[in-house]
Amino acid sequence: MVTNPSKHPGDEVPPDTEQTGKLPCERCGGTGQQEGKQCPECGGSGEVVVNVGDA
Ligand SMILES: [Zn+2]
Repeated sequence: MVTNPSKHPGDEVPPDTEQTGKLPCERCGGTGQQEGKQCPECGGSGEVVVNVGDA
């Protein structure tokens, strides 16, 4: 498995995938911080990439 540095643990899909969107990270509430440290879910970006295709 190739590690994609632009993909965070909370991302459902890689950022360059079609039919995706970004949502505020639920874990940190979009702040990118949790307990004074970088949020592990979004990697500090405050947002996660989700698949929004074919609902
Ligand atoms: Zn987060």
